[in-house]
Formats: sequence, C-alpha cells, structure tokens
Amino acid sequence: MTAFLNVQDVTKTFFGFTALSNVNLNVASGERLGLIGPNGSGKTTLINCISGALEVDTGQIVFEGSSISKLAPHQRAKTGVARTFQIPQPFHSMSVVENLMVPLEYIVHGLIDASNEESVYCEASEILSRVRLDDRRHAHPGDLSQVELRKLELARAIAARPKLLICDEAMAGLAMKEVNEILDILLELNSAGITIVMIEHIMQAVMRFSQRIVCLTAGRIICDDLPENVMANPEVRRAYLGS
Ligand code: ADP
Ligand code: MG
Repeated sequence: MTAFLNVQDVTKTFFGFTALSNVNLNVASGERLGLIGPNGSGKTTLINCISGALEVDTGQIVFEGSSISKLAPHQRAKTGVARTFQIPQPFHSMSVVENLMVPLEYIVHGLIDASNEESVYCEASEILSRVRLDDRRHAHPGDLSQVELRKLELARAIAARPKLLICDEAMAGLAMKEVNEILDILLELNSAGITIVMIEHIMQAVMRFSQRIVCLTAGRIICDDLPENVMANPEVRRAYLGS
C-alpha cells in the first residue's frame, strides 16, 4: 500500500478518559474508506487528531511520508488535509460564495491570485458547481436547507484543494434521496483524485461508498477489512449493529 496517511499508535485521553487507544490506521492514496462505530467510540476524536484540532498524547500522524502531528490545523490544511464538521460551521454573516473566500484566500494562496477578486470568484463558482450549490451562491447559510448546508460544508472543505478529505457524518438527518446526492458528489470528488475517509452511521451509504471499512469501539479498532467482511464480523455486529 502506498504510504499516504498513516495513523501510528495514536492514543488520546481526556482527563484520564482514554478516547483513542493505540490506534493504527493506513489509508492509501485514492482510497474510499468508511469509518464506523457506536456513538462515543472516538471517530470524531480520531479526525480531530488527524486534522489538528487536537494534539495526540502519543503516536504520530504521518501524511505523505512526513509527520504532521505537531502542525497547527491550518498548516495541515496546506499539506492537503481537509475535514468537514459533524455540525456545519459556516460564517453566518456571509453569503454562500463569500463563505468560500476564506479558505480560497488563506489556503490556496499562491495557487490562484487571491488579490484578483474575479479569479477568486471564478474559483468559488467552480467549487459551488461541483457540490451543486451554484444556484444558491447569494443565499445566506440561514436560508439554506439541511442538505444545502451539508453541501456548503463540503464546498468549504474542498476549496482548500485537499488531497485527503475527511467527512464527519456529512449525511446525518438527511432523507435517503439527499443522502444519495451527497454520495454522488463524494464519489465524483474521489474520481477526481481526492482520497476520502467517511464517517457515517447510515449503513446503506457506508456500503455504497466504501472500498474498505474500519470499525472503532471504545477507542480501539476492532475490524479493518472489506465491507462484506466487516458486516459479517461477529464483534462488529455485537458492538455496532446490535445483533
Ligand atoms: P464519536 O465521534 O465516535 O461519537 P467522539 O470522538 O466524539 O466519539 O468521543 C469519544 C469520547 O471522547 C466520548 O466519550 C466523548 O465524550 C469524549 N470526548 C470527545 N471530545 C472530548 C473533549 N474535548 N473533552 C472531553 N471528552 C471528550
Ligand atoms: Mg462524532
């Protein structure tokens, strides 16, 4: 497997409570990985450790061969790591298109001419069309539906031109038709070369999306295998699927 993302022996505790315990995980370039596990099993904590919102206690996060464990979130973003938040976090006072200006001007700086408003606007429009939100460019987050907010969250993440995109429950609370809309977008982004780790509870979505599934329980990886093997694994079924 190509060394792309390696989570090496990561432990994270909160005030003596172990949220992640010696987690080892490799993700290959171009892969679509599903991350499942019951509530409180450490999925978001793992993403926070990868993206830099949290520092690991012990272990390393290695991205494309270099340790990024000590880098700040914005520095990790510049190396190509992006994430979406479980609860979308747009700038409410800005329009949809303005919401993309921040990642465009700060992270993609140098790749496009950030001082040229028109080139930033063009880039923002291109991103909005990738997530099928171009017709809502002048709306404010408060006017968006749940699925549109999810699309904006995705747009903000891909504005930074990530190599790795980690989605934290990007489909929670959506109707099945909307789940499939988001899945179609993620599959297109993956076809365009973005490696994607998707945390999701909706099993139909996880199964349609994932080439491989990792199951976390109480801060430990209990299974890392092909989707059909994970679904058939007795420990996963007991811990997660309730049977
Ligand atoms: P998941 O995303 O799988 O639902 P989380 O990673 O959010 O789980 O949480 C794992 C465990 O760590 C939970 O018991 C949660 O309460 C705890 N936890 C997460 N973040 C913090 C924090 N910042 N401070 C204290 N405890 C936390
Ligand atoms: Mg979570």
